[in-house]
Amino acid sequence: MDGVIKLLPDLVANQIAAGEVIQRPASAVKELMENAVDASADTIELWINDAGKKLIMVVDNGTGMSPADSRLCFERHATSKITRTDDLFSIRTLGFRGEALASIAAVAQLELKTRRQEDELATIVRIEGGKLLHQEPGTHPVGTTIAVKNLFFNVPARRNFLKGNNIEFKHIVEEFSRVVLSHEQITFKMFNDGRELFHLPASNLKQRIVNLFGGHYNSRFVPVEQDSEIVGIRGLIGKPEFSKKTRGEQYFFVNGRYFRHPYLHHAVLKAYTELIAESQFPSYFIFLTLDPAQVDVNIHPTKTEVNFIENQSIYAILHTAIRNALGKHNLTPSIDFETEPAFSDYFPANRPVVNPTISFNPDYNPFENDSPAHAPQQSSHAPASFARQTSMLNQRGWEKLYEDDRKTDAGHTHGSLTPGEAGTPDPQTTDSGGEEQEDTSMYAGNEDTRLIQLHNTYIIASLKSGLLVVNQQEAHQRILYEKFIKDMAKAEPVAQHLLFPIQLSLTPQEHLTLDALTSELNALGFDYHPEPDGTVSVTAIPADMPQESVPDVIESLMHQWNEEIRDHQGATKMARHLAARLCVKAGTPLSPPEMQALIDQLFNTEMPESSPSGKKTYTILPLTDINQYFTFNQP
Ligand code: ADP
Ligand code: MG
Repeated sequence: MDGVIKLLPDLVANQIAAGEVIQRPASAVKELMENAVDASADTIELWINDAGKKLIMVVDNGTGMSPADSRLCFERHATSKITRTDDLFSIRTLGFRGEALASIAAVAQLELKTRRQEDELATIVRIEGGKLLHQEPGTHPVGTTIAVKNLFFNVPARRNFLKGNNIEFKHIVEEFSRVVLSHEQITFKMFNDGRELFHLPASNLKQRIVNLFGGHYNSRFVPVEQDSEIVGIRGLIGKPEFSKKTRGEQYFFVNGRYFRHPYLHHAVLKAYTELIAESQFPSYFIFLTLDPAQVDVNIHPTKTEVNFIENQSIYAILHTAIRNALGKHNLTPSIDFETEPAFSDYFPANRPVVNPTISFNPDYNPFENDSPAHAPQQSSHAPASFARQTSMLNQRGWEKLYEDDRKTDAGHTHGSLTPGEAGTPDPQTTDSGGEEQEDTSMYAGNEDTRLIQLHNTYIIASLKSGLLVVNQQEAHQRILYEKFIKDMAKAEPVAQHLLFPIQLSLTPQEHLTLDALTSELNALGFDYHPEPDGTVSVTAIPADMPQESVPDVIESLMHQWNEEIRDHQGATKMARHLAARLCVKAGTPLSPPEMQALIDQLFNTEMPESSPSGKKTYTILPLTDINQYFTFNQP
């Protein structure tokens, strides 16, 4: 019987390899652009149609290829960049595995036109699904043009797996950015569906950043520079006051190649300690120069992860370099540490917010039996009477919600809903039974109805059946979430129109993302339009969103928004995200009326028991359980 092991045909092998190297249009963009850089081009153009699904074309004026190489370059492991294993450890070019062109050709319809200086005629090669269709002489300026059409045309599973155009295009712009940032001496242009999106003339790094991200980046950075035997460091790092709440631009390059490195990222963050709030991120563009033998770039097929032999030394040197750069430029904290807007900002302005007051009755004598302590006039003494009365009503309302469950526990069902009234004898309250009367005046003076904030995180209320413990952060998320959902369902969202529009400076990438989010944001009450100078004017925002949080909220939506936004649940997810973003956080002190409002609103929601992400918003410690702590069984 014949053996069962067969060698994979080349085409199949290439398609499999292609899956590893070419995951999406952006991967092809990266490979083609890197090849153009390696070919010493000084002008490189990228043309994209239909987010790269129809066309990815890179035009360079580099060295070009000979007629023989024009065909060879599509063979697997065809590379001009490595001949011996030793080369692997000294390689300074971007590509070297010789897989990219073979992989792309295996899954697309590809046309190559190329000419070297010394050749009179160019070579034109057409190749489709890895099969050479034809090769002929033609005309082309010195350099190379590679057009990749209908990527994954022969691998429907992969094509279907691609995301919407907005997402794929964002990935392309990201790859483009990585290449152009590390090669400021090369002129780059990028065209999207025939329209010029970037024109980046050869310049220096700072100018490149400004050209790529926009003029407002001009004053945001300070240079960092440090030479040592192990590593050379240069680049630009963000001034602390321009740090962002969400990851902004964080770029590491080693020997001209973009890479990710959580450990070194930490070195940078640590250097900013005390200069920026913990929840913020600095921007940085840091270029390391290292002996290639000290770098292992090959640990990941797409080569964004690298390893350094001298990891720890590089960490220390980088950390010091950044500390020094920040120190040299006197970036002492002129920083706004305020991380979250005040809780009260989220409540309508007409809700009275009052300071907690202590009211007492000077005539009260605890040793007198018929104490007038709860005389009605007592209530008018306090300035918070309005808040108190509404609170009392509401408090009764929400206690009703679970009263029925507790009736039997509490031991009686009769009449009063007064919080704190319990069927089980309580030595502290039985002594002064008068306190159990229903009287709004008891609110401030009676411990039973006072709300307590524990660790600035939990709100504790006394119920007749036990203790209610509300997690303020989860509860507020539930409240905001339902509010946003309701707002979105309205034909006309409840918006506040701004007399003075809020101006946002966005990068071109952010513009694209914002475009993609427009329908959801409009439904929430946001309205905005682009200005001729490239900024965006926000003219309306959701009704009770504090204005000062708008830039942050929009920034976080754009940066953290993930790929699911386009599905039918986009709006729900956005509501959930906004609620998580805007809710009052654990650790925020709340005034009594704020606590009261939060509890009232929570029990007015459709699902008070859990936050939109499914976490518990409150729990009740039943009195029977509490009693148990104080009973013990005697033998
Ligand atoms: P690698 O870049 O890893 O060598 P590729 O598959 O990307 O492998 O490219 C194969 C070879 O084709 C390169 O080594 C190079 O010699 C040649 N090549 C590819 N693109 C260009 C280009 N734009 N200009 C000149 N030569 C190119
Ligand atoms: Mg390559």
